[in-house]
Amino acid sequence: MSRSILVADAISTNRIVIRTKLAAAFYNVQPAGSGAAVLREVGRARPDAILLSDTLTSPSAEELCQILKADPDMAPIPVMLIVGGADQRARISALRAGADEVISRPFDDAGLLARIRSLLRARDAEAELHLRDDTERALGFAEARHDFDAPSTVALVASNAALRAQLAAPLTKARAHRVRCIAPEALIQDAPANLDVIVLALSPDHPGQDLSLLSELRSRPSLRHAGIVVVVPEEAQGLAPQALDLGANDILVGGSDTDELLLRLTTQVRRKRTSDRLRDTLRSGLRAAVTDPLTGLYNRRYAEPHLARLVAQSRRTGRPCTVMVADIDHFKRVNDTYGHAVGDLVLTQIADRLRGNLRDRDLVARTGGEEFLIVMPETSRDEAHVAAERLRELVRGSQIGLPDGRGGITVTISIGVAVAEDLARDTSPDDESEEAGRAATNVLEIADKALYAAKSRGRDRIRVGPPCAA
Ligand code: GH3
Ligand code: MG
Ligand code: MG
Repeated sequence: MSRSILVADAISTNRIVIRTKLAAAFYNVQPAGSGAAVLREVGRARPDAILLSDTLTSPSAEELCQILKADPDMAPIPVMLIVGGADQRARISALRAGADEVISRPFDDAGLLARIRSLLRARDAEAELHLRDDTERALGFAEARHDFDAPSTVALVASNAALRAQLAAPLTKARAHRVRCIAPEALIQDAPANLDVIVLALSPDHPGQDLSLLSELRSRPSLRHAGIVVVVPEEAQGLAPQALDLGANDILVGGSDTDELLLRLTTQVRRKRTSDRLRDTLRSGLRAAVTDPLTGLYNRRYAEPHLARLVAQSRRTGRPCTVMVADIDHFKRVNDTYGHAVGDLVLTQIADRLRGNLRDRDLVARTGGEEFLIVMPETSRDEAHVAAERLRELVRGSQIGLPDGRGGITVTISIGVAVAEDLARDTSPDDESEEAGRAATNVLEIADKALYAAKSRGRDRIRVGPPCAA
């Protein structure tokens, strides 16, 4: 689906010119001839990006920008302001008003289109992260937010020493960031971790050569999420579109205006921090999604597909795999006698014992209230028997201490064991997951039945089920 761009200019010929350029690049254009029309249009059909010309009045382009950025619904839409000639003050003021980008007339088509692509890319990346964040929160996994304002680290990279010095002085003086001057080779060979933004200043003598650094930088895993601002010399401004398409997050033509550079850096640091935070939330959310909060063990959501993968692996290697279902005996009595909190304590202690007495490669999960699933790859029937007995002994053999010196209690577990052995060797990858899923369900059923048998025979015992050819 083509993207829609709202183009607002009080002068109709300007609108037509931009509309023609954008239509040629397959964008849909929503034209607007006044500030009021912009507000009407964004409410009617939300555009993917907004271009506002400084010819607009009441509200002006800057006022519109402030209105849009103050509205949480509209704020994510990238806004680009078009300002007249070489009016540096107008550029700064547009950025201060919250514009994501500002472009000066006259501009060439390639420059305009590259900036639009770059804005849409940044917006898409942020939107994707926000979407996942929303899902995490809807599922209740997101952690509490905390704004942290640790100073940002900015690397200033310039092969030209004079240029480096020229930019370093005002950046350092501004004190907003920790500034590190780094030679291009040093950054490539040994990129420091935790850089927020890289300012890559192209040397006027060989700007193209410096620009080739950009793809190198982007390919380093440690720099993948850093913002990159490329300072392009006035006389090489034809390289600006290429810089954006190669992965620069922002460009500054000229570079003598450090106010503009500082404003652009602030935006990049903010974006980097937002995306870092969203990525962290996502990571911890994923962990939370597969972990049981009480015991820290994996939960059923993780355990079931993992069991299927382990069974599939057994089918490939032809080696046996053991599945155990362990259930605490008369656990209801523990709750009834000592209270729910002690019940929870028992659960965590048993979980710790199980986890501490299995190999790293074994899986332990809490799959029900007081029920645990254990999967032991490459474990034969005899070994399974020994391991299950060991776990049972371990639980009944040591008391669980009650808080406040109230003594200790002894609990026991029963275990149903199923061994997937004499496996059908299946190497056809196509139906493997389905077959392995069926086989895993089968093994689990056998273990459940064995557990039931152990319970009905008096509890505190293990029972190994009949062989199952997975
Ligand atoms: P059996 O020997 O047959 O397994 O008997 P049982 O009492 O262990 O089994 P039953 O299924 O009758 O009771 C399980 C109890 O586990 C009931 C439930 O309240 C308790 N339970 C489930 N989840 C939790 C939990 O997270 N914390 C606590 N404290 N108790 C829980
Ligand atoms: Mg029980
Ligand atoms: Mg149970």
